[in-house]
Amino acid sequence: MNTYEARNVRNVLLAGHGGAGKTTLLEAMLFASGRITRMGTVEDGTTVSDHDPDEQKRQISVSLAMAPVEWKGVKINVLDAPGTADFVGDLRMAVRAADAVIIVVSAVDGVEVQTEYAWELAVEEGLPRAIFVNKLDRERADFQATLDQLVATFGTQVAPFELPIGAEHAFEGVADLLHETADRYPSGPIAQESPWPEELHAVADPAREKLIEAVAESDDALIERYLEEGTLPEDDIVRGAKEGFARARLAPVIVGSAARAIGVDRLLDFIVEEFPSPLERPPIRVTGPNGDEERACDPDGPLTAYVFKTVSDPFVGHITMFRVFSGRMRPDSSVHDATQGADERIGQLFTLVGKEHEPVPEVPAGDIGAVAKLQHARTGDTLCTKDRPVQLPPIELPEPLLAYAIAPKTKGDEDKLATGLARLRDEDPSFRVARNEETHETVIYGMGEAHLGVQIERLQRKFGVAVDHRPAKIAYRETLRGKAKGHGRHVKQTGGHGQYAICDIEVEPLPRGEGFVFEDKIFGGAIPQQFIPSVEKGIVRTMAEGVISGNPMVDVKVTLVDGKFHSVDSSDMAFQIAGSLALKEAAEAAGVVLLEPIVRLSVVVPEQFTGDVMGDLNAKRGKIQGMEPIGGGKQRIDALVPQAEVARYVIDLRSMTGGRGAFTMTFSHYEEMPAHLAEKVIAEYRQAREEAQKR
Ligand code: GDP
Repeated sequence: MNTYEARNVRNVLLAGHGGAGKTTLLEAMLFASGRITRMGTVEDGTTVSDHDPDEQKRQISVSLAMAPVEWKGVKINVLDAPGTADFVGDLRMAVRAADAVIIVVSAVDGVEVQTEYAWELAVEEGLPRAIFVNKLDRERADFQATLDQLVATFGTQVAPFELPIGAEHAFEGVADLLHETADRYPSGPIAQESPWPEELHAVADPAREKLIEAVAESDDALIERYLEEGTLPEDDIVRGAKEGFARARLAPVIVGSAARAIGVDRLLDFIVEEFPSPLERPPIRVTGPNGDEERACDPDGPLTAYVFKTVSDPFVGHITMFRVFSGRMRPDSSVHDATQGADERIGQLFTLVGKEHEPVPEVPAGDIGAVAKLQHARTGDTLCTKDRPVQLPPIELPEPLLAYAIAPKTKGDEDKLATGLARLRDEDPSFRVARNEETHETVIYGMGEAHLGVQIERLQRKFGVAVDHRPAKIAYRETLRGKAKGHGRHVKQTGGHGQYAICDIEVEPLPRGEGFVFEDKIFGGAIPQQFIPSVEKGIVRTMAEGVISGNPMVDVKVTLVDGKFHSVDSSDMAFQIAGSLALKEAAEAAGVVLLEPIVRLSVVVPEQFTGDVMGDLNAKRGKIQGMEPIGGGKQRIDALVPQAEVARYVIDLRSMTGGRGAFTMTFSHYEEMPAHLAEKVIAEYRQAREEAQKR
């Protein structure tokens, strides 16, 4: 593929709810442009962009895909972002690589959760957004209802530029409201101009009103004229519509059917003519050793590129996808990864066309490219020159809050697992890996069940390691109910070198958070000075393991009051064992209680869900701390809740609110568990230990 100058490049992100038709739309764009000669389908797994086996199986996009569409001398880099909440990481990263967003909405399903999310992301980034109303050929497709819903959700800036001609199976073309022309598609994806259908006036006139209103509202000079005259002159409408879109103050609505390639060539025209080129984007801010700087889209400027996606492929190795903001990426060159502080060797450059690689001579400012086999680059890194190391600001991602504990199915696969997890984490910043030394578990964190499910499949398919998973363990604590005494006796004096250690202790509970206190009250050398730390060591070790549940004991004071020793047979080890035995006896006498971690949960939801969320938190043993409206029709609810009850809160909240809630969760303190729940935890621990002993 040839090199395109920045003015002939468009970087476009397709976003929207899963199933709205993004993947099919990219397929239709490639078909309309002549790049492919027949359209693949999502059902058959034959589209250019959904090529991952995970996606073919699930029939939804689970990772970002891209393909360039060449149209009228312009290269349109189309990014197809996954549309489900579990894969927001990819979507957020892709927003940075794009200069405009097309929100794809199904005319059958209307505005859905991810439609709103994608819209808000584009607004946050200040990117112009257009709306493609898709599936107009489908049964029960309703353009008018979809448009009304779009206006109700996103406001009057939603501006219909087009109307469908015909409905459902009879959908056959597009009427252009700006120019009052009509296009039909009797054969193939290229429009044939045809007469404006007279009967359309009934719907076209009110739609045009909406359009004029949107144009007027996007421009202070135009709004005055509109208020005075009740309408706008033809020229002002066309010019105002284009400018309003470029300044992200007006969202054009474009219509079509991706599956039947209707309206797709018009969409490509619109992108080429009206979407901003990278040159029109304001300079990006970068941070370097000399403070903040700006980098404009200049191919002769210093190299500044952003890694928005990395993928590991078992056959071609690691692929890094990047957008160049300034300078040029050249093949066979050396670049600096400022985020990792490492140098990288760049080999052959290419563009991705779905899963295929097509070589390119270079990637200049404004364009998107890819390179294989970089050693260090992770998603989110900045690539630049070594003498001017700078970084783009990091992208904030929502915290992954669903945790699974995983282990390889096959003993000996631990190394493979570690390699695979490190790779997956480098690819996807919304995926985390941690080792919990306390529960001895490898824990993975993700955005939801589908996210973690896909990662587990990738471990198997790409790294050859099958894993078992279960919910991550909760870190409970043990403590004592009251005061008690304990006697520890470790005496073995039959033959050879004997062992002799006896100690007496007193234990008592301490207030929450006080930890462990050890006091030595030995008089007259009942235990020699050198063995007193041994007793303490034995007690500390036993506390770390716990005595009834496998969880550490905390908030306990132990006083060593008496003991006996033997001049030959006493040893460090013997006193450690005696200390341990004394603690176990004392704990049994005092009574052991289980403490559970309590988290501080702050939930933000649209007001209509407040009741449901409160009810659910009560059922989860939560204590509501406060409730407060925070504007925008939203409510914040703060509560203290046992962690065990909200281990799957990501999923619970999503199903309660249809994905319209958000929350943060932080550890607060430990609290005594209700006895019947504590018994369950203890019983599970006993069972696990018995099974381990049998093996
Ligand atoms: P994505 O999840 O947004 O990428 O949506 P897909 O492109 O995977 O489409 C979801 C389903 O809708 C698939 O079965 C497509 O074949 C179908 N589909 C997409 N666009 C259209 C369309 O314009 N008309 C009809 N009838 N079906 C469509």
